[in-house]
Amino acid sequence: MAAILSKATAFTNLQTRRHISFIHPISNLNPCKSFFSLSSTSSPAEKVSSLSSTKLTPPSASEFPSWAYGPRDYFRFEILHESTKSKARVGRIHTPHGVIDTPSFVAVATNAALKGVSFAQADEANQQLIFSNTYHLMLQPGSKIIKEAGGIHSYTNRGGTDEKRGGPFITDSGGFQVFSLAYGSVAEELSSKGELKKAKNNNRFKNQNKNLSGKDAVKVTEEGVTFRSYRDGSKILLTPETTVQAQKDIGADIIIPLDELPPFHISPQKLAESVDRSHRWEARSLKEHLKDIKNQAMYSVIHGGLDKDQRTKSVEYLTSLPFDGYAIGGSLGSNRDELKDLLSWLMPLFEKNERVKAKPRHLLGIADEINIRNAVPMGLDTMDSCYPTRIARHGSLMTKKGLIHITQGKYKNAYGEPIDEDCQCIVCRQHDRAYLHHLYKASEPLATMLGTIHNIHFMNDMMKQIRQDILDNKI
Ligand SMILES: [Zn+2]
Repeated sequence: MAAILSKATAFTNLQTRRHISFIHPISNLNPCKSFFSLSSTSSPAEKVSSLSSTKLTPPSASEFPSWAYGPRDYFRFEILHESTKSKARVGRIHTPHGVIDTPSFVAVATNAALKGVSFAQADEANQQLIFSNTYHLMLQPGSKIIKEAGGIHSYTNRGGTDEKRGGPFITDSGGFQVFSLAYGSVAEELSSKGELKKAKNNNRFKNQNKNLSGKDAVKVTEEGVTFRSYRDGSKILLTPETTVQAQKDIGADIIIPLDELPPFHISPQKLAESVDRSHRWEARSLKEHLKDIKNQAMYSVIHGGLDKDQRTKSVEYLTSLPFDGYAIGGSLGSNRDELKDLLSWLMPLFEKNERVKAKPRHLLGIADEINIRNAVPMGLDTMDSCYPTRIARHGSLMTKKGLIHITQGKYKNAYGEPIDEDCQCIVCRQHDRAYLHHLYKASEPLATMLGTIHNIHFMNDMMKQIRQDILDNKI
């Protein structure tokens, strides 16, 4: 039973980010105007009218400036070793705020905060790249506040000029959360404890605005996607241009273009239309980004669900443009085997030439241990998930022998036994299972802090060992 539960939890996680997992930028037409920097030279409306007057095919690679295809001095991916046994590779992503050793686990800090743990503690647990959500940050505190603070690194005091502390951030576009408002029923069916659901439950305005979720909650046009803020019910328009501007205000090292996240159950024709729209939006996002790069890298998001033709089309188009890396998004299957199967034919498409092969690849929203071990040999470099930190809050702690559920009675007198005997994290060095059992049973906030520190440390230890195994050609 434990294995089944554990599997179910992981699938939930997988599904959660898959359908809800893309966040995209936003803009907004009226009351929230101050949220977004609409400082591009032409307004979104002007861009759209010029776009609609031309065609709905996305711009070709030749429409982007040739310099954009050259190397960046602020962002570089260095491949140190390619396994002789698989497509796994060990590398280093150099960002303006530190290095990311790959393959790497990416922790999720939705509101620019890891729940219950400070960034200094995360640094001590060897966490390098942190994933924050533009949708949430646009609504609270607002991207302008972060910009005025000097960007997310200054705002959170993470990274900055102290290179030893590391501190790179990645933000998404906001679209994932927006589309989950529309497809909430599917998302909720698949994820019982999603962060978004919590946000919706906290909405004080739900009685005044009945269209905050469900199929009428968002409206998709060529210009972008309109939705209502869960905080105050105001209408917000998120476009490729405004999400890029919001992400420039926030100032993460890696940013993501706006894409469309279609519902899980969709016809082949609708899927094809959705992939095409994502391509157009991503190309517009890239154009906006290239106007003022601000030492940020932009990854594209590969779409196409489980459809081989659509995925192939998506890889071919998006790798032809001057993106700095590639994220795998959209529907990734309903279980680990489907994801594994998808990656087995998808990832070789990134090997088609040296330029494409030399860029980092990110798996969006999936990073439990088994999926990581399946994805790394396929050539994935980074993977994000809230899974390790979320389960820590519920008392599930990671060990080399599998998860332990610390609230179980058998741990109440487990004196002198660390969570994991090989773990060198501060929690395992200072506390035993008996004390942790008590903290969780007493609902002490310290329980979440200590459990989360351990799980983050455990994930990063695991990734370090995986990198060594690739170097030794064991993976
Ligand atoms: Zn530990």
